[in-house]
Amino acid sequence: MENTGKEEILLRGVAASPGVAHGPVFLFVKKELEIVRYFVPPDRREEQVARFEGALLQTKQQLRVLRCEIEEKLGDKEAQIFDAHQMVLEDRAMIDAVEKEIFQNGSNIEFAFQTVSNRYVLAFSNIDDDYIKERVADIKDVSRRLLHNLMGQSEMEMGSFTAPHILVSDDISPSDTVRIDRDRVSAIVTDQGSRTSHTVIMARSAGVPAVVGLHDISRRVQHGDVMIVDGFEGLVIINPSEQSLFRYGKIQVQRQNALNLYHSSLHLPARTDDGVELKMLLNVDGSESADKLLRSGADGVGLFRTENIFLRGEVVPTEQEQYEHYRHIVETMRPRPVTIRTLDLGGDKQMGGVKSLTVEEANPFMGFRAIRLCLSHRDVFKDQLRAILRSSAHGSVKIMYPMISSVKELLEANSILEECKAELRSRGQAFDEGVEVGSMIEIPAAAYVADHLARHCSFFSIGTNDLIQYMLAVDRVNDRVAHLYEPNHPAVMRTLKAIFDAGSKAGIPVSVCGEMAGDPVYAALLLAMGARELSVAAGSLAEIKYFIRNITLDEAGRVLNEVLLMDDPDEIATILSSFHLDHLGAARSVVNV
Ligand code: PEP
Ligand code: MG
Repeated sequence: MENTGKEEILLRGVAASPGVAHGPVFLFVKKELEIVRYFVPPDRREEQVARFEGALLQTKQQLRVLRCEIEEKLGDKEAQIFDAHQMVLEDRAMIDAVEKEIFQNGSNIEFAFQTVSNRYVLAFSNIDDDYIKERVADIKDVSRRLLHNLMGQSEMEMGSFTAPHILVSDDISPSDTVRIDRDRVSAIVTDQGSRTSHTVIMARSAGVPAVVGLHDISRRVQHGDVMIVDGFEGLVIINPSEQSLFRYGKIQVQRQNALNLYHSSLHLPARTDDGVELKMLLNVDGSESADKLLRSGADGVGLFRTENIFLRGEVVPTEQEQYEHYRHIVETMRPRPVTIRTLDLGGDKQMGGVKSLTVEEANPFMGFRAIRLCLSHRDVFKDQLRAILRSSAHGSVKIMYPMISSVKELLEANSILEECKAELRSRGQAFDEGVEVGSMIEIPAAAYVADHLARHCSFFSIGTNDLIQYMLAVDRVNDRVAHLYEPNHPAVMRTLKAIFDAGSKAGIPVSVCGEMAGDPVYAALLLAMGARELSVAAGSLAEIKYFIRNITLDEAGRVLNEVLLMDDPDEIATILSSFHLDHLGAARSVVNV
């Protein structure tokens, strides 16, 4: 792609998912539409009706395309939502009301349509009936789509573009991200977000480069602008010059050489030079094909984020549907272990759709999330636990609870699990009676009482993404405080060490499944603290294996001792990255440092 002749603009954001991409921009802005009202004289009102008819046709056509795509990807049940949307657009009473608003009040079509749609939403919202509530959600969704069409703005959807584009947005939610087609999105760039927002984690696991936290990029670019995205350095270049295009061509070759070198370790054990082995597990979200799982080189799955199955659909999946998802991963990985984490909805993972489990809150990360939500929606929790237990009959399964903050919660979850086991026994359905249960340690309170928690579970997995956000009081998705999200903070280092010590004293294994585990800079440190298992995104596996094979436990221990004495995060960062660079062996000469 050639330089467009426009002025080059270089912007720095957060390097969120590695990789380099170059191509045209697809702009996806989700902010509320601003509808203006203006008076339309009588002789121009027919034009407004014609625009309305055009938008209705366009929207119906989009819905037909979407229906086919979703049916192909997710099945007929999920696709039926678009039939309901079509029905809204064909509602004669609604169409008449819009036309009346145009002809009687001289309203422009955008305002007329929004007025009628709001009237419907308000009237239906007051009726306490599940079916009517579903219609309200349909009206809102389809109205938004039609208004976008009227105003010439695009909504992100699979049918919107075919060739690969760089997706630029003010914000992309995890439920948008699950619908992204890897073949059509070559990179993601957003105003908001940080390295550990779930959208970014999903991008990383799909191997899509991302730069986030750019504050206003969605207002600085237009559809079709050309851009380079450097997900390694967190750089974005809009309208790149010939020199930049040339430089990035070279960088891409260098990076590819390094990746090829790392890849040579993919199917070798992550064993240090002095013989200590680290099991390298995979973080998955249920969308991975058997082929991708088997080619990953992983020793198992250390974190299955099950909520992503919920986010992909409009309704809560049944026990049977979940069982089939879990069984697919368990059977594919067999005999390797699969740790299935129970539902972690809430926070930045809001479930849209009708049967939403999540609620709008002022502080979603501190609110109704994960185990808290499950303990109050017992029916949903039990369906999931039974589905996981049933999948344990097909391979090696472990169960893990997210967001545990006290022994009380852990005991409550365990007792519900026992109820589920009893139900399966009486149904005569098989499961592994010895299934292990673990607790995530991702809330500071849990870290402090890790010795107590260890009495009621068989393993810990540290969720550094949340642990850091809660320890440092830094919202993991807020770009304004992203610079304060500091994994190198001495408090984080000490807490990690204390969790490993508590696990070792209690005789239970401690692994790490947060994003720190996938950053090679921290691998030696975690190993020295006591980790013998790390769970990471597929794209990080080879690099970590390669690095571990170039160090000894002894050296890593010396670095850890130094780090634990330091009070300055920058010094900690420096010592860790120079240790990393010094042990890159042959890769050092091909990595651009
Ligand atoms: C974590 O918090 O580190 C973690 C692994 O869980 P999630 O990122 O899904 O919150
Ligand atoms: Mg977490």
